[in-house]
Amino acid sequence: MFSLRTPLESLKKIFGYDAFRLSQQEIIEGLISGEDAFVLMPTGGGKSLCYQIPALHRPGVGIVVSPLISLMKDQVDSLKAHGVKAAFYNSSLNSSEARKVLARLHSSDLDLLYIAPERLMSGEFLERLAGIPIALFAIDEAHCISQWGHDFRPEYRQLGRLRGVFPGIPLIALTATAEAHTRTDILDRLGLRSARCYVSGFDRPNIRYTVLEKQKPFAQLTTFIQPRYRESGIVYCLSRQRVEKVAGQLREAGFRAAPYHAGLSAGERKNVQEDFLRDDIRIIVATVAFGMGIDKSNIRYVVHYDIPKNIESYYQETGRAGRDGLAAEALLLFGYGDIAVARSLIENTKNPERKRIELHKLNSMVSYAEALSCRRRILLGYFGDHLAEDCGNCDICLHPPQLVDVTEDARKALSCVYRVGQRFGMGHVIDVLRGSQKERLLELGHHRLSTYGIGRDKSQQYWGSLLHHLVHNGFLEQDVGNYSILRLTDSARPILRGEQPLTMAAPRVRADTVSAKEKSKAGRGKGPETPDAYGALFETLRALRKRLADKAGV
Ligand code: ADP
Ligand code: MG
Repeated sequence: MFSLRTPLESLKKIFGYDAFRLSQQEIIEGLISGEDAFVLMPTGGGKSLCYQIPALHRPGVGIVVSPLISLMKDQVDSLKAHGVKAAFYNSSLNSSEARKVLARLHSSDLDLLYIAPERLMSGEFLERLAGIPIALFAIDEAHCISQWGHDFRPEYRQLGRLRGVFPGIPLIALTATAEAHTRTDILDRLGLRSARCYVSGFDRPNIRYTVLEKQKPFAQLTTFIQPRYRESGIVYCLSRQRVEKVAGQLREAGFRAAPYHAGLSAGERKNVQEDFLRDDIRIIVATVAFGMGIDKSNIRYVVHYDIPKNIESYYQETGRAGRDGLAAEALLLFGYGDIAVARSLIENTKNPERKRIELHKLNSMVSYAEALSCRRRILLGYFGDHLAEDCGNCDICLHPPQLVDVTEDARKALSCVYRVGQRFGMGHVIDVLRGSQKERLLELGHHRLSTYGIGRDKSQQYWGSLLHHLVHNGFLEQDVGNYSILRLTDSARPILRGEQPLTMAAPRVRADTVSAKEKSKAGRGKGPETPDAYGALFETLRALRKRLADKAGV
């Protein structure tokens, strides 16, 4: 159908793009010449073309394994629109449709066939393939084969036999999930140990990474969104309930927001998604259910209202911002309470291997959030990609953390934990430190303790940050199973005795992510903007006030 000489010609003539991205060309040429490949490229990086073009340049059909029926359909529709002979073979076809696809396969009328792993690996299908010229095998979303991946699918395991059954046919595995353990696991299981690995495109220099300590999350969220209310963004929450709540609150505050989670009907989800694509809705508040296959290039920010389970999901989700290459923001609200919840959820995992993996990953996520060095270096390092120097576009690079001496306050906090008998949680300890008049505190007689009110000079948030810092550095332990009671550990002694100084990074709670210069460049230096609903009213009031003032001659 096409007479193509070079991959670049295919790229231009069939797909209508001018140039290859990243390592696409190398990967494509390697595959055409019959080599295997392992491709690590972030979502949106352009992995599909890496096997689609070679399939057109090699004789036979390219067999593509993909985990989701919806993904297969999207890909096939888009290929057909470009005039490529593509089809999918999965459980969504009725028997006559399935027969038609098989007939095309046998008459060499297909360039690409998308198929579910269990179908491909069935004895019947493998037998069919024996008599058909095959251009290549592509395993898309290859992390599904590994328990280390975030989306393990047992049916992917069978693909381990593919290399042995078709030794002469090039095999390409592709994923956006590139954490070290996952990488090795995929290569081992697919028998791709000697394949060339291509890691590219993980750096998204236009996304500014910021982490704030979660304190008054909704206020922190609106402070962040307000100046961006005309722009599109996603707010990720961990539970459906929270999605509903935050979306509701945002709407009440005048933002054009809508919830999205797996508890909504397919129709509702489709509507929300379309409204978002059309910019009728600016903010999608969503669980992780939202985003797969979303192709919206002008998402300007992604906020994580709760801590994600691992860096892979986090990076993938933040990667949905700024696909157009223009400046975008990724904001994480990092709450210690959320970590405790996440840990206890993982504790319920029955499979001990899974539990170990998930805890390891959560810990990496926490270290990222707590880190005091360039965020992008940590993220890219996690994926096996390395930055030569600090990025200059994350909160740490832009506002290097200030270390404050907290020795004296730590002593106060620790002795307060001791005075209340090591039988109370953070909230109560803070109440005592700040000299609260709460009835319960008075009933307990805790207003007579020597530590009562010794921390009045500092905010509740400050004490919260400090106590978490003490827990995290092993001076206090928090009994999660028992009302999160705080107890001293042995390491607390030198601090209590004043033998050990202690510093802490000043807590970051405000999203000061847009510099004053950028603000004025965008014509936004005149103070905070308000959401659409209030904007007009605000303007009218301002005009009225001005008229009155003019009249009064002031
Ligand atoms: P991935 O599978 O890595 O998430 P896709 O293959 O779906 O990414 O590609 C993401 C988008 O980038 C698609 O819209 C695709 O058409 C586009 N794209 C891929 N390669 C190029 C290129 N060389 N030039 C322009 N656009 C490209
Ligand atoms: Mg893809």
